[in-house]
Amino acid sequence: MKINSAEFVISNSDVAKCPKDKIPEYAFIGRSNVGKSSLINMLTGRKSLAKTSGRPGKTQLINHFIINKSWFLVDLPGYGYARVSKSSKKVFQKFITAYFSKRTQMVCAFVLVDCRHEPQKIDLEFMQWLGENQIPFSIIFTKADKLSKNKLPVQIESYISEMLKYWEEMPNYFITSSSSGLGKEEILAYISEINTQLNKS
Ligand code: GDP
Repeated sequence: MKINSAEFVISNSDVAKCPKDKIPEYAFIGRSNVGKSSLINMLTGRKSLAKTSGRPGKTQLINHFIINKSWFLVDLPGYGYARVSKSSKKVFQKFITAYFSKRTQMVCAFVLVDCRHEPQKIDLEFMQWLGENQIPFSIIFTKADKLSKNKLPVQIESYISEMLKYWEEMPNYFITSSSSGLGKEEILAYISEINTQLNKS
């Protein structure tokens, strides 16, 4: 899919105020600093559509962007920032739960994980929650350029075998680098395929 237009629509903290348009929506979520803003900019080919992190954990907003005037890309707040208090973690959980329960047009959540790290409890728990609530998701491994050609597949395999302790099958996944553009075509083709299927039904 070629990105012809990518425009910011609205930021808000209230799910009820999200755009009403019944068009497919794809949500991007992950721990603070995972490379979410860089990935969104890389996918859309816009240098600063999503703001790269200045103050991680501070902007708890749902950001809607409209792509090719036909689907929403949603930038959700980063989670798991160490300095966030327990009470604000609870607020965050409520907020995310509300988003996923109310946005029925959300067709796929992309859960971003840094390919250099072992599976993190917070990510595993989050994916578990998505699974339990039948919310479709794919994993996006970020920052692939930070691992050597030999280390990358080893690290991905290790992540997969950890996932298979909890999951019958490995969820769909993509390996990406915002520096090199790795994974861009695959993710856009995946979104395009889902959009085509939805248009037929
Ligand atoms: P966010 O907090 O998840 O939105 O993360 P950012 O996109 O702001 O990225 C956090 C840091 O990781 C920044 O310093 C980015 O330049 C860096 N970064 C993000 N993606 C990549 C990548 O694919 N490769 C490399 N080498 N660095 C990246």
